[in-house]
Amino acid sequence: MVSRVIPVETFDLVIFGGTGDLARRKILPGLFRRFCAEQMGGDSRIVGAARSEMDRDAYRSFAREAIAEFDPDAAGHETHLETFLDRLDYVTIDARGETGWEDLAALVRPEVIRAFYFSVAPSLFGDLAERLHRHGMDCDNCRVVVEKPFGRDLESARALNRTIATYFDEHQIYRIDHYLGKETVQNLMAIRFGNMLFEPLWNSQYVDHIQITVAEEVGVGGRGEYYDRAGAMRDMMQNHMMQLLCLIAMEPPAKFEPDAVRDEKLKVIRALDHVPSTDIVRGQYEGSGDCPGYRHQVGNRDSNTESFVALRAHISNWRWAGTPFYLRTGKRLRERASEIAIVFKDAPHSIFGAEAGRHRNILTIRLQPNEGIELGVTIKEPGPGGMRLIDVPLDMSFAEALGPEDADFPDAYERLIMDVIRGNQTLFMRGDEVEAAWAWADPIIAAWEREEAQPLPYAAGSAGPDDALMLMHRDGRRWREVKA
Ligand code: NAP
Repeated sequence: MVSRVIPVETFDLVIFGGTGDLARRKILPGLFRRFCAEQMGGDSRIVGAARSEMDRDAYRSFAREAIAEFDPDAAGHETHLETFLDRLDYVTIDARGETGWEDLAALVRPEVIRAFYFSVAPSLFGDLAERLHRHGMDCDNCRVVVEKPFGRDLESARALNRTIATYFDEHQIYRIDHYLGKETVQNLMAIRFGNMLFEPLWNSQYVDHIQITVAEEVGVGGRGEYYDRAGAMRDMMQNHMMQLLCLIAMEPPAKFEPDAVRDEKLKVIRALDHVPSTDIVRGQYEGSGDCPGYRHQVGNRDSNTESFVALRAHISNWRWAGTPFYLRTGKRLRERASEIAIVFKDAPHSIFGAEAGRHRNILTIRLQPNEGIELGVTIKEPGPGGMRLIDVPLDMSFAEALGPEDADFPDAYERLIMDVIRGNQTLFMRGDEVEAAWAWADPIIAAWEREEAQPLPYAAGSAGPDDALMLMHRDGRRWREVKA
């Protein structure tokens, strides 16, 4: 099998925040990989923009270093790299200042697709949008890409939506959730809606429960200041985990088209019940050995911010009434491993008798590491000795099934940036979706803040607070051991 790369139209991409961490680690290396894959059509160009005084050559050196550091295959593409760097330019601009904008306007071409990536703090989105408008760069053919966090509550998300909407139409706004760019996450939709096998079983009649785990081994690292103002609920649950839940729970859209898909996701969020405090566990990691604890890392000894959250959610609609969704995410956990598990119900009657034990089919979608999908099936244990049943995986590791060439997927950012150029919003969040997700999260967070709720301590390298285990045990269920 040979990968098919469909070139995109010629574009000019401006990265506001072009000297920042995200540009260095993800955007520039991602664009370089797309360039090597011959996807960056025509004479597409990239312009970095930030306050730092820098000329074009200095920015090219910055990009060269970023690519060498964050693209493991860059060394094998030296010739490509030089041609790619030739496409780069830089403009010194302060989002709140008045200089540099004419230079930028002279660089971006009216006849090609223009994309403006706002890889800066959200407080600057309004300034950028207003100045792009004032300098005539907000044509119908242009797009703006905005990074998370998209607000810190419903009110601020609404304000952000309003600000951007003053200058750009919803069809021009691309709100990134990089989880949606992951290959396996998109495969979730292919599996559900491309196969006859699963969809008839995809409801509360056959599914016992669903588990979504996004576990990180690292702590807050250099993001302590930001993270302490956000916490796991805002940083992960309201956006990434919510998007995963939506893709699992949504009804089949009539077409795989942006608004058809986003309409269905929105219905799921609106059908979510309020989560009572008895169905939520918050945690905060403690230090151990050389690893500092959360409070030490964020420089705040009294912080009540959670670095872990687990909850039980219910969706009140015909498909899912009675099937709980258990979600958990946290930092400094045992391993960096994320997966979604669809746990089907037991067979209604075991013809093999009680001694055959209890067996369930589990469909597991691994997001990281080793993206792949596994279906647990029950078979007879080979050999003589009667009918002993065992559960084995029908494993579809993409790397094995597709061969190395096809399993070399683009990183989520690469795919999403190319979707921006293509004008395909399917994998981006619509404004009303983001607001609905905040409307769900807000009362939960408000209750914690009102009650000054203390998160439960948990040991670094553990599976989180014991109470998170109890959240399932009390329902006669248990978390799957998620392994890297
Ligand atoms: P960062 O490392 O702090 O970089 C910020 C960038 O914005 C720098 O290029 C900075 O350059 C520029 N900047 C700051 N103030 C400016 C102004 N007034 N006018 C013009 N440019 C200005 O931040 P980051 O990690 O790259 O994150 C950027 C955005 O992506 C944030 O919204 C963040 O929440 C989001 N995000 C980041 C990550 C990540 O992994 N890093 C992941 C998800 C989302 P100068 O100082 O030279 O102006």
